[in-house]
Amino acid sequence: MKLDAPTLVTVTVFVTVIMGALYLLSWRQARQTRALGFLGFAQIVGALAVTLFGLRGVIPDWISIGLANAVMLAAFGLIWGGACSFQGRPVPPLRIAAGPVLWLAACLAPPFYASLAARVILSSAVAGLYCALAARTLWDHRGEPLPSRGPAALLLASEAVLAWARIPATFVLPAPPVGSPTQTFWVAVLCFIALLYTVAVSVLFMALAKERLEAEQRRAAETDPLTGAANRRALAAHAHHALAAGPAAVLLFDLDHFKRVNDTFGHAVGDAVLVGFCAAARQVLPAGVTLGRLGGEEFACLLPGAGAGDAAAIAETVRLAVAALRPDVLPALSVTVSVGVARGSGDFEALLGLADRALYQAKAQGRNRVVLGGPGLRQVA
Ligand code: GH3
Ligand code: MG
Ligand code: MG
Repeated sequence: MKLDAPTLVTVTVFVTVIMGALYLLSWRQARQTRALGFLGFAQIVGALAVTLFGLRGVIPDWISIGLANAVMLAAFGLIWGGACSFQGRPVPPLRIAAGPVLWLAACLAPPFYASLAARVILSSAVAGLYCALAARTLWDHRGEPLPSRGPAALLLASEAVLAWARIPATFVLPAPPVGSPTQTFWVAVLCFIALLYTVAVSVLFMALAKERLEAEQRRAAETDPLTGAANRRALAAHAHHALAAGPAAVLLFDLDHFKRVNDTFGHAVGDAVLVGFCAAARQVLPAGVTLGRLGGEEFACLLPGAGAGDAAAIAETVRLAVAALRPDVLPALSVTVSVGVARGSGDFEALLGLADRALYQAKAQGRNRVVLGGPGLRQVA
């Protein structure tokens, strides 16, 4: 295969400009995703650098070497800026500018500018550093699981390694004369690699933005907006999964005389009580338990594998935590909850029906209590 440098330079410039333009268009549509803007500019700036490199011999060397490398380093810095912005970190403009400025300052020293090895070492070291920083930024935030995060971090890390590998290579391989077939070949290879990285990084960052959006939409579709609890559909899906694996206990909560709270203090106080209930319940429920809002002031959670006694004891801790709740909006207000508990396997709705009968008993017996459902209904506290 013959890699033709001018053709590759032209293709790289066009592909990079198109990618950059697509990013900038996406940024226009989703202004809050500033990372798209950074990456769009990174690509346009990168395309400019490749153009200047490609015009070596045609335009003055101080442009095709001095300026072109500074522009290229700015492009790498902007990629790091894009990674920071994507992760909601402050973007460090001074550090992004530091690489190109350092390069330009070094070029003002004639011995540095005259030495190809010195130039390759500095530009590769800085370009590699920006790639490594971008890779690390993505990797540091792996707590937010996105399928393309690992591949994107790995790709940027490999780009860093490749850039740094040029440093020892300058000592081992003699520099081919400018314009020689060997030099043209290496320009073509580097251009080809740059093209592959540009496409791969662009695709992966676009995938990351899309995956985050999808995750946010999925979360919103599964969450009750007021309390942050799972909604009925999400709880049912979670319960369906858990019950397929074995028996579980369900706790069904219903706030007592909640209509009175609304009627007396207003809907906003009622809302604050609902939020307060969820916070109090979450604090005492075992870690990993999904609390769901079935509707209105009715909540439920599933305790996979829990025995009836344990489930009733956990329900009791929630009841006590709610009784001790003093809502910020109205500290004098006392809130109580009744809880129906049922244990079984199979159908979640059937289990919920059993818990609902127990809850009915809890209400009938005077509220603010836990009743364990099943064949022999009994009050726990
Ligand atoms: P009980 O002790 O028998 O459960 O009586 P209750 O008043 O709690 O039950 P009822 O079902 O009569 O009233 C529930 C109230 O919950 C009625 C409705 O206005 C209120 N509600 C439902 N959803 C919301 C909400 O999102 N915010 C507020 N503030 N109130 C809500
Ligand atoms: Mg109710
Ligand atoms: Mg109620």
